[in-house]
Amino acid sequence: MSVNITFLGGSGTVTGSKYLVHHEDKNLLVDCGLFQGYKQLRLRNWTPLSVAPKLIHAVVLTHAHLDHSGYLPLLAKEGFDGRVYASRGTRDLCRILLPDSGHIQEEDAEFANRHAFAKHTPALPLYTRQNALDTLPLIKTVEFGKTFSPIPGWNATLSRAGHILGASSILLEVSGRRILFSGDLGRPDDLIMSPPEDPPQADTVLIESTYGDRTHPTENVLTELAPALQRVAKRGGVAVVPVFAVGRAQALLHAIHLLKLKGEVPASLPIFLDSPMAVHTTQLFEDHPGEHRLSRQDSHAMTHCATMVNSTDESRALASRHGPMVILSASGMATGGRVLHHLAHYAGNHRNMIILTGYQAPGTRGATLGSGAKSVRIHGRDVEVNAEIVQLQSASAHADANQLLAWLRSMPQAPDQVYVVHGEAGPADMLRSRIKQELGLRAVVPEQGSTWPT
Ligand SMILES: [Zn+2]
Repeated sequence: MSVNITFLGGSGTVTGSKYLVHHEDKNLLVDCGLFQGYKQLRLRNWTPLSVAPKLIHAVVLTHAHLDHSGYLPLLAKEGFDGRVYASRGTRDLCRILLPDSGHIQEEDAEFANRHAFAKHTPALPLYTRQNALDTLPLIKTVEFGKTFSPIPGWNATLSRAGHILGASSILLEVSGRRILFSGDLGRPDDLIMSPPEDPPQADTVLIESTYGDRTHPTENVLTELAPALQRVAKRGGVAVVPVFAVGRAQALLHAIHLLKLKGEVPASLPIFLDSPMAVHTTQLFEDHPGEHRLSRQDSHAMTHCATMVNSTDESRALASRHGPMVILSASGMATGGRVLHHLAHYAGNHRNMIILTGYQAPGTRGATLGSGAKSVRIHGRDVEVNAEIVQLQSASAHADANQLLAWLRSMPQAPDQVYVVHGEAGPADMLRSRIKQELGLRAVVPEQGSTWPT
């Protein structure tokens, strides 16, 4: 009997990762992510999966980012009652991210109803905070490098992917086939995360392609960030920095800490981390010392170089403070969360600055700001943008095209087949053609919903 994969998400787009592995009468889902970005993508979250959740026997997660885990509460709500296998770091982050995701969806629905700009009334949340809390007990933690059986007779092993805390690649062994899921791969030269481990031998590989068409600049986040912060400090402005609460927020805090130490940014420049999620995640770095490059002192310094803003009252109070100051706040692509209030408040003034810190999916406010748009729609109204826009090119938590190819090349033996996933159409196709030409491997970009052999 063959082993097939159906690409339920993460094909032709970076979001919605869901890879359904099918053999005999068993189904296993690798990743269970939300679609994010363009409205027509987000609407896909409302379309039922092609397989009933109760027919899925287990889920294995590569990491906790919502485009890999954020559909879990809905899967459970719709009848999935199997186990979800994940590393300890991923479980710890899911405890922070999933309830928050439910909360944001409830808030968005409520806000839309209150301001009556929802096209469909009443607007409903995809799932609630309570749905997310109900999902957490399904998660069972597994160790890196230790083989486990998510389904009797199926084996799986996690290896470190270096992307965020807990991030893994997954080797699945089913009926003699070895299938490797890269997950999101970090950079070998990341400021805070340890490099990805070399991949094991596999017959079939699914590789991410977020930056499949790009080479990261050789400059690092310190050399990019220093002049921007100097400029905004000098003119007494406010830098609003949309950050991914998990990963980028910590990298930036560490970078700011180093710049202050070196005297390249005034030590007196006030820094605020306005995201309870990012605050919790920052604290987790001290609990997971094996997975990142930071020493105990570095982890400690990182958690103390900013004022941690927890309550909404403290967050609101930031609007009446004067610059210069730096506000790091989620979400990283300005799709929701507290950063929207800061953007609405500060984007209009040319003394201020908006610093975009990583990949901005097409259709998100972050991408709109990055394109130089003079206004952006927030909470149903148009906000003028006069602030300086700075895009950090070096702050990505993803490997670039050469690093992705090097990772594939470091496999002990060439795989039979590579599926290029987790990328927009252009980057995915560019990586596919390089894999074919430079490595001589069979590579395809599977279409959304299509099924392929392993
Ligand atoms: Zn990720």
